[in-house]
Amino acid sequence: MEGNPTGCMGLPDYLGWQWKSKVEIPIVCVPGCPVQPDNFMETLLYLLYMASGRAPMIPLDEALRPTWLFGSTVHEGCDRGGYYEQGQFGEEYGSPLCIVKLGCWGPVVQCNVGKRGWMGGIGGCPNVGGICIGCTMPGFPDKFMPFMNQPPGSLLSSAAVQTYGRAIHALRKFTQASLNKVPSWRRQSAILGNSD
Ligand code: SF4
Ligand code: SF4
Repeated sequence: MEGNPTGCMGLPDYLGWQWKSKVEIPIVCVPGCPVQPDNFMETLLYLLYMASGRAPMIPLDEALRPTWLFGSTVHEGCDRGGYYEQGQFGEEYGSPLCIVKLGCWGPVVQCNVGKRGWMGGIGGCPNVGGICIGCTMPGFPDKFMPFMNQPPGSLLSSAAVQTYGRAIHALRKFTQASLNKVPSWRRQSAILGNSD
């Protein structure tokens, strides 16, 4: 058994992906390394409501993850999304720019940690400079290794974004410079001139 000498597995593989308890509660996966604690408690609370007949069947995706927690990508909630869109990519650690070239898998990884933070709203991997390594995905870790290499699928998209993003960024700089100037009609000389 390559890469898994002990043969360990998750509950869905062990019991079956369609398994349900006697009271019709399915297996629910709340992934993460470690699990985001609010995600875990929220899911537990939902299941308690469900078990007591106060909530409908928990909505799950094909990997048995609660859809309201794992329906969006890290990228969609990342503080650095604006830099990505403008084609501004960091080349070294500590950069405030988008870190896709340093190995961030955020554009294709489903996780809400970017928005929710790690604990009490604080942190969130890419927001604070840590590449997303895909720890909420069923293919983790094997499909995301070697960590810290640029994800192969991102080469094309980041190259395309770089061309478009640089042009957009230059145009925005132009508009920004104009918006940073006080309108001529609001200048003191114009106001004094009007009051004459
Ligand atoms: S740091 Fe990662 S998640 Fe954030 S914008 Fe860049 S690629 Fe997307
Ligand atoms: S942002 Fe990426 S590495 Fe961080 S918790 Fe989410 S999936 Fe895991």
